[in-house]
Amino acid sequence: MRQPFIAGNWKMYKTAAEAAALASALASALKGESGTKVMVAPPFTALQAVREALRGSRILLGAQNACTELEGAHTGEISLRMLRDAGVSLVILGHSERRHLYGETDALVNRKVRLALAEGFEVILCVGETLEERQGGITEKVVEAQTAAGLASVAGKDLARVTIAYEPVWAIGTGKNATPQDADAVHRFIRGVLAQLYDESAARGMTIQYGGSVKADNIRDLMKMENIDGALVGGASLKADTFLQIVQFDR
Ligand code: PEP
Repeated sequence: MRQPFIAGNWKMYKTAAEAAALASALASALKGESGTKVMVAPPFTALQAVREALRGSRILLGAQNACTELEGAHTGEISLRMLRDAGVSLVILGHSERRHLYGETDALVNRKVRLALAEGFEVILCVGETLEERQGGITEKVVEAQTAAGLASVAGKDLARVTIAYEPVWAIGTGKNATPQDADAVHRFIRGVLAQLYDESAARGMTIQYGGSVKADNIRDLMKMENIDGALVGGASLKADTFLQIVQFDR
């Protein structure tokens, strides 16, 4: 059995005070609940405030990105060492906004994945096709290439700290989401890729989240699917009530 995993990506929203208020509301609402793994990834500038707000809570503190180096002359970057210092235990890597707006390549994402794992972090590795790629019938080719490249040289023993987030780019922030059946088909395909890269049992054990306009009204149907183990949530994670309805999908 894979543990459900719901993660909130707050992107470039919220000041430190706003983020802390949201984190406090989530922490108090989820007090005592333990079934679903939950993570929030605030902007870097709010990490310290959110860390304080989550103290004593089981909600994990995540980051939205990290540099390929631990320190050095990298103006504007944030290193994993700094993120650890800020209380982060999990890092989102290869988000489509990083790939498509900031030119992150598979090779760069893989360097980040390997360094994050070597530094003891958990990783959410995002993969997903654009609308053009879906319409061109190459969804599987794209997600296979991104999964294989993202995990290149990652040892099987480290997979327990890796979550794959399948996020079709055309569904992110657009209100259009893949049907549960379409999403599940891609998740099953990714699990097959993982079985080829590693083995069946590793593939069966891996958590694969869906991301792309996940909301309170579609999470239950998504979570009923055999290969969908959770969600990476953008817009609906920015308010306590909408995110809590997703986290508590099984109520
Ligand atoms: C995301 O940021 O990864 C995402 C899926 O965003 P949204 O839920 O807003 O589509």
